[in-house]
Parts: sequence; structure tokens; C-alpha cells
Amino acid sequence: MMIPTLFKLTSSISEQLPFAVTPVKPTPLRDSFLLTYSRSCGDLLGLPANFWQSPEFKTVLAGEKLPKGGVYTAQVYAGHQFGQFVPQLGDGRAISIGEISNHVGESYEIQLKGSGLTPYSRMGDGRAVLRSCIREFLASEAMAALNIPTTRALSIVGSNEEVYRERVEQGAMMARVAQSHIRFGHFEYWFHRNKIPELTHLANYCIEQFYPEANTQELPYLYLFEQIVQRTATLIAQWQAHGFAHGVMNTDNMSILGLTIDYGPFGFLDDYNPGFICNHSDSSGRYAFEEQPSIGLWNLNALGLTFSTWLSVQQITTALKAYEPALVKRYLSIMRQKLGLANWQASDQQLLGQLLAIMAEQKADYTLTFRLLNSVDVDDVNNANCDALLQLFRCQKDIKKWLVTYRARLQEDALRKDERVKEQNKVNALYVLRNYLAELAIKEAESGCYHTLEKLHSVLSTPFTWQRDSELFAEKAPNWGKKLEVSCSS
Ligand code: AMP
Ligand code: MG
Repeated sequence: MMIPTLFKLTSSISEQLPFAVTPVKPTPLRDSFLLTYSRSCGDLLGLPANFWQSPEFKTVLAGEKLPKGGVYTAQVYAGHQFGQFVPQLGDGRAISIGEISNHVGESYEIQLKGSGLTPYSRMGDGRAVLRSCIREFLASEAMAALNIPTTRALSIVGSNEEVYRERVEQGAMMARVAQSHIRFGHFEYWFHRNKIPELTHLANYCIEQFYPEANTQELPYLYLFEQIVQRTATLIAQWQAHGFAHGVMNTDNMSILGLTIDYGPFGFLDDYNPGFICNHSDSSGRYAFEEQPSIGLWNLNALGLTFSTWLSVQQITTALKAYEPALVKRYLSIMRQKLGLANWQASDQQLLGQLLAIMAEQKADYTLTFRLLNSVDVDDVNNANCDALLQLFRCQKDIKKWLVTYRARLQEDALRKDERVKEQNKVNALYVLRNYLAELAIKEAESGCYHTLEKLHSVLSTPFTWQRDSELFAEKAPNWGKKLEVSCSS
């Protein structure tokens, strides 16, 4: 019996933007094996049921076999790294195998991260370590489950190849999936080399593939830029609302589709600390949690400059002015739901501000504080039902005072308690990828046991729903877990 092929690939990017890609073959890892996979990502791609059992799945995602229709390529781009322009970067350790179409005709590019040297590897080895693959795999799938736009992760292939970072680590390869991995830095590369025909081809490709409705607009390039502004604003609003710090918001790590891309030293907030810096190497705090909204705008300015090819300064400036209102609107809409309010009143800004200030002062856990607001009852003046919430605060005086105002506000709100809790639980996650949880999964996986990795992946795939036997994953971080340092080295 013929086993049907899993991957029927096309390669639009190498056909339509040949100047932007370089053919390069992966270098498979020694003794590689399928370490884990995401069923939901496979479903998104329209892969058949039990796809992971097919031998083809592993050989393709280990870079050992190229499916029909695919082309191995690495893309070139540039970028502003920590504010400095670097004229040439590129996929230094990710090789695209091509694109796959799902049942509804959506096309997804599959890239193998950690698949060996490319012309853009610079001083790097083209490899990824198991630790960073696990972090990216879990984070991508967790973010998707939180409904935050993100690149996805299909699989991790493990190996016993040694890779040198601060210590010797195990090499691994992760299959990363997105409708496109095109970054702001792709536009910067061609603009700063004054290669206007190439830049225009790139913009046209983005319009045809991802923003076709631009063609019905009077000014398609303006529309394209406006859409990228909107998507970036709403993405960062979601990061802020869910307590996600990216860590390296360089323009080469900013997606033209508004996806979270390039998971490095990212972190979810444990204690609420607006100045949280998750990247150990970010000494100035350029990419601190509270800086993300303004850095998003900085990055859009850098992208906007490339659009001066087709747009006036005034058109670009006007488009950029839409960023802040779009971000604030989306942020407040999520925060309204997190507070369990049917509508937003002017005074709610103060209510939210006070809560965040108390949380910051008291170092209360960000995720759990919001989640446990669902235990607040309007008539429970003694806070008898919200003990777990109060326990998150070292000194309870201020939060108890705030709860009085909050209960009064809930009383006048249109939602009944059960409706409110239902709405709140849709946006207040119980489970997030805390750094220390990732660390537990990594330590275990490095010794060949994948139990915590699998369990964590499963729990994070339904982050809003309480799950049996998963208490550990819903707890706040222990003190040792808050002190872990994560650097760019991956
Ligand atoms: P990142 O900080 O991960 O976004 O990477 C910045 C640039 O360095 C990108 O061009 C990456 O492809 C490249 N890069 C990062 N790590 C490696 C590595 N181990 N080998 C080759 N290139 C790398
Ligand atoms: Mg990057």
C-alpha cells in the first residue's frame, strides 16, 4: 500500500523573490530522533491524523529529506539591533523547506531552525540547542492558545550532537511555521542598499500573498503600511495585557504579519514589575516590559522609512499616529474583560491603575492576581471568598481597600457574577509558561525524560481552563525560579 505523502509543498517565496533567498541545504544532526510535536500545529497545516507516526514526518523535519515541490532556502534581511543598524543579517540558522496549504487554502511556510550553516550565519554555528528549542516550542504553542498572534512550532528533533554555548549542550532542530517569516528587516535590507526594484517586488509580494485587499485601495502601499501598524499595535497590546516580555525587539525580530517571532530570552511576568527585563544581556533595559509599546513604534518608524520609497513623509507620519490609539484601545478592551466589566467608564482607568500600582508595590503575581479576581463576590464584604487572591499580597491593606472600590464598581455593572467570571476566565489565564517551568522541562529533557515537557505542553494548550493534576503549573514561581537568568545565547 502506498503511504500518502505528508507534505505537498510549493515555494512561492523562492519563485517570486529569488533575489531575496539563497539555496542552501540543511546539515542534519547526528543520531537525530523525533523528540516532540504539536498536534494542533499539524492540524493547522492540514496534515492527516497521526501524522507524527509517518517516518516521513521525522526525516523531513530533521532536514534529511526534501518533499516534492519544496526548495531549501535561507532568506536575507537586515535590522536595527539594540538601536544600531546592521546592514546584513539573514537566516543564519533557519532553512525554509517551502510552503504547505491547508484545507481552507491558507499557506504556511515551514522553516527548520538549527539546521546548520547558511551564507548568513556570520560567526554562528547554524545550530540551536535543545534548551532554546524547548523554550520556543512551548512558548509558540502557549501563545497561540492564549490567542496571541505568533509563529507556530510543529516539532523538535533531538540529537546527541554537541553544541557549544556557555557550556556544552545538546543540538536540536525545531520546525517553525508561519504564513510568512518576513520581517521589518527584509524591507530595511533592500531600502538601505537603494535596491528599489527589489524592495518594490518585496512589497508587492506581501500585498499579493497576505494583504490582497490592498489592491482595491487607492494607495496599496499606504494600506499595507497602515495594516502593519495596526497589527503591530494590537500584538503589543496583547503582550502587555498578558504579561509577555519579548526580550529582543530588534527590527529583524518584528513580523510584517504582526506575529510574535524569534523567541529568545522572552519571559512571562511572575511578580508584576513594569520594569522587568527578561534578557540578561539587555543592560540598559531598552526592551524592558514597559518599554515594549514605545519600542514597537520605534520599530515602525524604521519600517516607515523604507516606505518613503512610495509614500510622503506626511502619509507615513499620519499612519504612525494611528499606532498608539490602536494599542491603547486593544489593551483597555482586554483589561476591561480581565476586570470583568461589561463596559469601560472613564473612572475605570483609575481603578486599573490603582490595582497595577498595588501589584507592583507588593510584587504580586501578575497572572494569578487577575485570574483570582474571579473569586471576588459583590456582597462578600469580608473577603471571605478571596483568600487565595489576598495571599498574593504581602501586605493586604491596600488591596483590601481597592477591593471595596472594585466591588462597588461590579455592583453597578451589567454583568451577573456567572457571566462575569465566564468572560474573565476567557482572558485571565491560569497557566502561563513561567520561566522556571520551562527550566524544569529543559533540565528533565536534557537527561532524556520528556514527561514535564509533554505535560506542560498539554496544560498550556488550554491555559484558561483548570486541569486535574496540574496544580504545580498553576502556582506562582518559587524564589529560585524568579532569579533565573536568560541571555540571547541560544
Ligand atoms: P536572534 O537574536 O536570534 O534574532 O538572531 C540574530 C541573527 O543572528 C539572525 O540573523 C540569526 O539567524 C543569527 N543567529 C543567531 N544564532 C545563530 C547561530 N547559532 N548560528 C548562526 N546564526 C545565528
Ligand atoms: Mg532574529
